[in-house]
Amino acid sequence: MRNLRSNLAALLGLGALAGSVHAYATERLVRTPDAFKAAVRVLAPGDAVVLADGVWRDFEMVFVGEGTAAQPITLRAQTPGKVVISGKSNLRIGGRHLVVSGLTFKDGFSPSSEVIAFRQDGKALAFDSRVTDTVIDGFNKPDRGAEDYWVGLYGQNNRFDHNHLQGKLNKGVTLAVVLNSAESQQNHHRIDHNYFGPRPPLGSNGGETIRVGTSPFSRAQSLTVVEDNYFEGCSGEVEIVSNKSGGNIYRRNVFVRSQGALVLRHGDGNLVEDNVFLGGGLAHTGGVRVINTGQTVRDNYFQGLRGDGFTAALVLMNGVPNSPLNRYDQVLDARIEKNVFVDVSAVLFGAGADQERTLAPARSMLSGNVFLGSGDKAVFKAMAPVDGLTFAGNVIDGVAPLAGAPGFEARVIGRETLPDGRIYPDAAVREALGLKAPVKLLTREETGVAWYPKGDQTVAFDSGRILKVRPGRDQLSAAAAKAGAGDIIELAAGDYVQGQVIEVGQPLTFRAGTGAEPLVTFDHMTLFNLVGQGALKLQGLRLSGAKAQDAIGNAVIRVSPGYPPSNYAVELVDTEVSHLGGQAFAVLMGEKSTFADHVTISGSRFADISGAVLDLAGETGGSGLYGAETVDITGSLFARLGGPVLDLQRGGTDESTFGPSVRVKDSAFHDVAPGQPSMRLDGVQVVKLDSNLFERAAPARVTIHVGTPDLSETGNTGAALEIVDQRK
Ligand code: CA
Repeated sequence: MRNLRSNLAALLGLGALAGSVHAYATERLVRTPDAFKAAVRVLAPGDAVVLADGVWRDFEMVFVGEGTAAQPITLRAQTPGKVVISGKSNLRIGGRHLVVSGLTFKDGFSPSSEVIAFRQDGKALAFDSRVTDTVIDGFNKPDRGAEDYWVGLYGQNNRFDHNHLQGKLNKGVTLAVVLNSAESQQNHHRIDHNYFGPRPPLGSNGGETIRVGTSPFSRAQSLTVVEDNYFEGCSGEVEIVSNKSGGNIYRRNVFVRSQGALVLRHGDGNLVEDNVFLGGGLAHTGGVRVINTGQTVRDNYFQGLRGDGFTAALVLMNGVPNSPLNRYDQVLDARIEKNVFVDVSAVLFGAGADQERTLAPARSMLSGNVFLGSGDKAVFKAMAPVDGLTFAGNVIDGVAPLAGAPGFEARVIGRETLPDGRIYPDAAVREALGLKAPVKLLTREETGVAWYPKGDQTVAFDSGRILKVRPGRDQLSAAAAKAGAGDIIELAAGDYVQGQVIEVGQPLTFRAGTGAEPLVTFDHMTLFNLVGQGALKLQGLRLSGAKAQDAIGNAVIRVSPGYPPSNYAVELVDTEVSHLGGQAFAVLMGEKSTFADHVTISGSRFADISGAVLDLAGETGGSGLYGAETVDITGSLFARLGGPVLDLQRGGTDESTFGPSVRVKDSAFHDVAPGQPSMRLDGVQVVKLDSNLFERAAPARVTIHVGTPDLSETGNTGAALEIVDQRK
């Protein structure tokens, strides 16, 4: 019977593995979760359970079995890419020699702590198993502060390869190797040829793309190999990769325009070699940060990285005497050899030196590295003594030497530009310096799956059609209901009255037609409500709250948590907002659990407003969550406000984020927030105030809780900046 079925399956084209497995192997095509469960119960080595093409909703899969090396047990899609797992779904794998392939997780989220777990439960782990050719895209929990892993690797000898993971927005590592029991240590996992696509800033710690280990088990050996992966726009937080165990290898990975660094955070004896870091000139793009004992960083390539501080191209941290597991061990016995740095902003020694982190790197060697730049820029920075480091045979061209350190030879180095854009010392110089030939640059097509689009799929403002509307009642909400993502709703001159709240669940622009100055009034406490994947641009409009309902918590634009979750954006261009009376009527209010990628205001006017213009202080906890990555205000006027122009809060002492960042330029504050700061910037990491006027407006108040925020003010009239230092 089995033989017959197998032959039948092969005839039907379902028997991809039929030639390589036991003659009695069975393939079971299943169409329902119950059929799947029944099939799993009777799996024998060499068998396959095949999910029928289609959408599987609210499907929690438990795939367990005992295959053999010669006859693994397979769970696969009938057609790779045509089996979509959606809704509240996940996959748990337990047993031996199991292979999963061809699945797509999207339009849903895991109700548990993982989307794909290499364990059935705390006891039944996966060994010698593999997940391949699988996609997880935007499979985010509705609450961005709720934590999960998309992939949790437990057990030993597992492989996660040729998968595509993109768009994680909620808290938690994208892929975690967990060492929480002896069965999961010395695991020899292999993580290779995956495409790690864009992960935007999380706005707190917990936005790592890969973490290997955790601090409580960081003295254990993991022996995981992470190789030939492509990281594109992995900017969740300061750690793209957080290594927290020993004996791991990171090689031939490519990091493209990813903000953050590969961080050897805990654990000893790790190897980082032949990786390529391409920053493309993007802010906060980093390289490798070294902590602990016996780390080797060799033959890597770094180009166009703009990171500084903890995300410089190379960072050797300062350590803590008798460090607790979760703090910083001293850098000892590091070998930093034959790396090539081209046009990077910073290389730091003794980073993080403070009253706690007092131990400078020691017993370590930097040798044979090449630093290419232009204009003899000061790239090297020492925050602590470097006498514990040996520098030998490093060459620099166009980069200023590290003051007080021998072992850097300045000379003109012949350069060769490869077809892929990398710039290397030419072959003669490479030979003289003992550098290897450039490692082949992995392309993104060599990673992930062939059948799913790679890269950022966000729809840009103004990329769609133009829908013209005439004045009248509820014309805007009617147009919004018909619009598609990226569309522009263009208002003719005249008066618009909204009785309905305008629901915005996709990027939309509302703008004045040429020469028109349309006036919009509204009856309720909100005009625009952004939910899910909503983003809003207003251009050339006049908005008045004169007719709005008088209620506490009014806001012209409200951002509410919704599904599918997304980071939002608001842009106000040449727009006027006035007559927001009553109590604390805000222009924009981001509720808790919402996160703005950016809010920009340019050439706009705000007058006679009882509340804040931008109320982005919904996150009040101490975990470091905050409400907006960047706020940019230029050429705008704020007059007669009851609340601050901006209220933005990032609580706690976490050091994992680059933001929030606030820039205000060429703007005027008149009669703003009597008795309060004109902007409340609590825990904000970057503040730049340039050429503004403060008149009957108190300075912006920045409260510092941790670190060294980048704060500056230039050319302002009136007191612009007040700094309250609450660092311990
Ligand atoms: Ca982190």
